[in-house]
Amino acid sequence: MFRSIFDASFLRAEFDAAGINSQFIPLIWKHVIRNPNCEWTEIPSLPTAAYSLLQSKFKTTTSVVHSVLDSNDEVTTKLLIKLQNGAFIEAVIMRYDSRLGKYGGQSRPGGLRSTLCISSQVGCKMGCRFCATGSMGFKNNLSSGEIIEQLVHALQISQIRNIVFMGMGEPLNNYTSLVESIRVMTAFPFQLSPRKITVSTVGIVHAIKKLHYDLPNLNLAVSLHAPVQEVRCQIMPAARAFPLEKLMGSLQEYQQNSQQKILIEYIMLDGVNDEEQHAHLLAKLLNTFEVVVNLIPFNPIGSLSQFKTSKEQSVLEFQKILRGTYNIRTTIRREMGQDISGACGQLVVNLSDKKLTSTGLITDIEDLRP
Ligand code: SF4
Repeated sequence: MFRSIFDASFLRAEFDAAGINSQFIPLIWKHVIRNPNCEWTEIPSLPTAAYSLLQSKFKTTTSVVHSVLDSNDEVTTKLLIKLQNGAFIEAVIMRYDSRLGKYGGQSRPGGLRSTLCISSQVGCKMGCRFCATGSMGFKNNLSSGEIIEQLVHALQISQIRNIVFMGMGEPLNNYTSLVESIRVMTAFPFQLSPRKITVSTVGIVHAIKKLHYDLPNLNLAVSLHAPVQEVRCQIMPAARAFPLEKLMGSLQEYQQNSQQKILIEYIMLDGVNDEEQHAHLLAKLLNTFEVVVNLIPFNPIGSLSQFKTSKEQSVLEFQKILRGTYNIRTTIRREMGQDISGACGQLVVNLSDKKLTSTGLITDIEDLRP
């Protein structure tokens, strides 16, 4: 099996073993980003030994774009990507055009900006009960190259300014590939600012403790979804392994070290976590933190979940309590791309009946900006 040219540590090790200077690596990447289907011989000025090494062990991209689906309003584009092992993942491009006022109806400076939502695993083992991906179970981790290739494919379509790890999978359960892929994305030739990259987690406590040291200046989003352990376990079985108290302790440590706001994601489930008492408990839990709370109206996923969407009034009331009583910055997530199943929720690829179905996602990560 060939390796992706974007599997950085493997590539470096092979170059070192062959005595090839690793300074050529970013130049190779630069060429491939512009010409993903190029032949190795088309890349000029490499040492002779590099050509034969690349030919025998590497591919420019190991994944292929199987299909591209645009939403009717052209704000969202979903890429269905086939991996070398035959599995499918999805990546979603979301465009915000402040000139057209398409960002939550509010105008913002900066013009057109695109965010790419990236998958980190095929399936997911966390089994959150509101999530379509969770119902697939875990299939496999993506390599760092497979993670970066989603960006390479998206760059052929759009200028990507922000990355969110909110696609299929729990990124912190694929920690090594996550860290390596972000290090590549923030270096030449991608040169994305770490402040434009967000990792979303259900709260893998031991990984959160390491994250700041391995990837400083990153944005962290935490899927909290409930202010008490009991309700959290009901929604997210994985929460049993990561008790709320320990999670909040790790976030405290993270915030002290990073000095950055944390995005708190809170899915609104009718009669489960959306009552006034939950809003007060949440506010008290977040009392000592610098956060933006993002209320996410639940996107029904058919028979895969028993939960119901909160009433609009409940969501507004919840926001009012957090904002008005406790002065916590609180947004309500706007849905995008529902007509291509690229709206808020989680991704799932189901090929069993020859149809590709998914519910997707969206982020309000730019709300983290001061
Ligand atoms: S919400 Fe995220 S962590 Fe939970 S099952 Fe879905 S993909 Fe996994």
